[in-house]
Amino acid sequence: MSTWTNWSGLTTTHPTQVISPRDAGEVADAVVAAKHQHLTVKMVGTGHSFTAIGAPEGLQLNPTRLTGITNVDREAMTVTALAGTPLHELNANLEALGLTLHNMGDIAEQTLAGATSTGTHGTGGVVASLSAQIAGLELVTGDGSLIRANETENPDVFAVARLGLGALGVITSISFHVEPVFTLEADESPMLWDEALATFDQQAAENHYFEAYWFPHTDRMLTKRNNRTLDEAAPLSRVRGYVDDELLSNRVFALVNKIGNRRPGLIPRLNEFSGRALSARTFSDVPHKVFTSPRRVIFREMEYAVPREAGLQALREVRALIDDKDWKISFPVEIRVAPADDIALSTASGRDSMYLAFHMNAQTDHTAYFTAVEDLLRSHDGRPHWGKLNTRTAADLEPAYPRWAEFQAIRDRLDPDRVFGNTYLRRILGD
Ligand SMILES: Cc1cc2nc3c(=O)[nH]c(=O)nc-3n(C[C@H](O)[C@H](O)[C@H](O)COP(=O)(O)OP(=O)(O)OC[C@H]3O[C@@H](n4cnc5c(N)ncnc54)[C@H](O)[C@@H]3O)c2cc1C
Repeated sequence: MSTWTNWSGLTTTHPTQVISPRDAGEVADAVVAAKHQHLTVKMVGTGHSFTAIGAPEGLQLNPTRLTGITNVDREAMTVTALAGTPLHELNANLEALGLTLHNMGDIAEQTLAGATSTGTHGTGGVVASLSAQIAGLELVTGDGSLIRANETENPDVFAVARLGLGALGVITSISFHVEPVFTLEADESPMLWDEALATFDQQAAENHYFEAYWFPHTDRMLTKRNNRTLDEAAPLSRVRGYVDDELLSNRVFALVNKIGNRRPGLIPRLNEFSGRALSARTFSDVPHKVFTSPRRVIFREMEYAVPREAGLQALREVRALIDDKDWKISFPVEIRVAPADDIALSTASGRDSMYLAFHMNAQTDHTAYFTAVEDLLRSHDGRPHWGKLNTRTAADLEPAYPRWAEFQAIRDRLDPDRVFGNTYLRRILGD
């Protein structure tokens, strides 16, 4: 029997069959065969979703053979790649072509289809999410047909399928809008809570990409400003890169968490230590080497998007809640922003947004912390990241998304028999 487990270790399933298709034709054949056997079908990514959204229950399709760039259109400035390509592979190949994506999240392990299907995002920019950088895609629908969707071909499908939650079909290839590669200058500095919040709006407006981290139980924050520059790149030395990204962010952080797990009472002091230990640094490099870094400490995460104008108040209330409880939280709260986009079920659909992300290490029970913070953020009209922990249901998500019915109508058309369903999708989208 085959076993599938996600990165966080929270979900394990035993799919009935596993196939690794090599092209759209093999995907279509697999979907038709599964349907005849009354099996559901799930193309998995790298399992980096904390929720069970990607859990295969019938036929598991692996993305590993569906990789690589298939077309570069320098006139339209789009690049097409097979859906299972890992982001780091796309980034490296784009760099070699003198091209880059506009924006991205913190890591680059995910597959293209997996990352876009849940709305993976970075911060700031003209668009923040990978889904909003899609120019077109191809997907195999519930009856095995292959359809193409972009602004002119099947535009109604394009409007929803850029963030399809794996519920509309198996995406086989994705075209992204790209731009000439540029140098991104990172300017990171510690800041105290009052100053960071007082200057947050200004910093978000004045920098191309701005984000902040708050260390719970302390006044300490880390602020990160990434700006495009015409200057020569001045990357971190290999040693400094290793010390910052591997040693401090992963190994020392793992040790700090280990100590915190044994002696939770020490966590506020450990956070104070971490907040103080971070020193200011500037460096510049190609975008993907600035935006992304490895994450090796396994954690659980919940992230909510709230309307941009409510964001800082929501953050203040979260801090008051944490101060009031005796939870001990060793991971910083990550604060990012996103401009509104035009995708039906995007967390930034139709509204400028602030993202607040909460983490707990895998050895600590996250439920009390996440549940209370989720209640608070729901009172600010919050929308949960589709790939991160939440307790929402279709009934209470529908009012949060004005274009909910549009998504469901396309789902009914492309997958009337719910070939692509699973337990999580039934909860968040309904039957
Ligand atoms: C350490 C870490 C850091 C992260 N950082 C960020 C971040 O900075 N920003 C952010 O927004 N999120 C972040 N995430 C969340 C992560 O980007 C998303 O959960 C993403 O969906 C994971 O991609 P994946 O390839 O692992 O997909 P999976 O989790 O395996 O699958 C996600 C969904 O995509 C569907 N899918 C996969 N392939 C296809 C296909 N070919 N066709 C149709 N559907 C498909 C699956 O069925 C499932 O519904 C992070 C997660 C981790 C663990």
